[in-house]
Amino acid sequence: MVKRELHEIGDGLYAWIQGDGSWGWSNGGLVADGGQSLMVDTLFTGALTRDMLDAYRLATPAARQISILVNTHANGDHTFGNHLVADARIIASKACAEEMEERPASVFRAMIDGWRDLGETGRFIHETMGAVFDFSDIAHCPPTETFSGHTTLMLGGRRIELTEFGPAHTRGDIVVHVPDARVVYTGDLLFSGSHPLMWSGPIGNWIAACDAILSWDIETVVPGHGPISTKREVAEMRDYLVAVRHGAAARHAAGLAWDEAAFDLGWSMSDDWLDRDRIIANVASVYRELTSGAVDPSREEIFRQMLRFRAGAPCPHEPGAGCTCGTPLHNEKRIGLAGGRR
Ligand SMILES: [Zn+2]
Ligand SMILES: [Zn+2]
Repeated sequence: MVKRELHEIGDGLYAWIQGDGSWGWSNGGLVADGGQSLMVDTLFTGALTRDMLDAYRLATPAARQISILVNTHANGDHTFGNHLVADARIIASKACAEEMEERPASVFRAMIDGWRDLGETGRFIHETMGAVFDFSDIAHCPPTETFSGHTTLMLGGRRIELTEFGPAHTRGDIVVHVPDARVVYTGDLLFSGSHPLMWSGPIGNWIAACDAILSWDIETVVPGHGPISTKREVAEMRDYLVAVRHGAAARHAAGLAWDEAAFDLGWSMSDDWLDRDRIIANVASVYRELTSGAVDPSREEIFRQMLRFRAGAPCPHEPGAGCTCGTPLHNEKRIGLAGGRR
């Protein structure tokens, strides 16, 4: 069983951390003041969210009734438990609310249940999520209030700043900043200890988000996935994103196809983070941007290559399909292998 733990990270501030933060194992947060409480995100399932709420209520009486829920973005691992606090004000960015409408819990559950009919996408979501979580208690419970750009909330005597940085990880990413406690809850703009996943991009927005957070007077950073962090991990994420952007652009200029660039860059990076196969999706995103959409790999194709990369395939080509990887001619095109794979 994945270890799930409540951490007190300041006066009236908490973080709920789930395991190593791999697929679907997201974090949540709670801010309490003057008998009121603000929750940052719900979790992937009703049961996981219920356990988190129980822990919050044991920690502080203010959590008996959640006053405000903020969803950092639309992904199910941050929203599918919203129905458990349906009486709260639910706040998100306008773009997040729109994305939630397009991919409600019912659509996700139909995909999870019908994975066998969905080809590589189905195999991928089954392997990473369907076989791991119980989705019998998830629901679509959308925001009741939305904003764009920036907004300030008061909770008891406490000022809380919500800032939108998306589209980056998803279309409407926001972060929750509690200035008096020098804490920021980043949602999935920070993955700590694992490769981030860029569904939307552009990557420049994500780098700008890291720069902004690094400029704030903060001490503690609660990532969307992985252990409680500091500015150091935000700086590492920034460096990673810059490296992906440069690495993908160099390979594009050298004439590599998006999937060749993704494998080449993926196997040459020297970090020890989890879920390295996400580099495939991230490079696809950068190629889409570099080519103004002329290169636009489908999710199906991206998942297919992610599965192959996970299984250790050295290149994106099917064996026997005229693949010349390993020959000097082909290697001339590959520019990242010097670092070796690990
Ligand atoms: Zn997440
Ligand atoms: Zn996410």
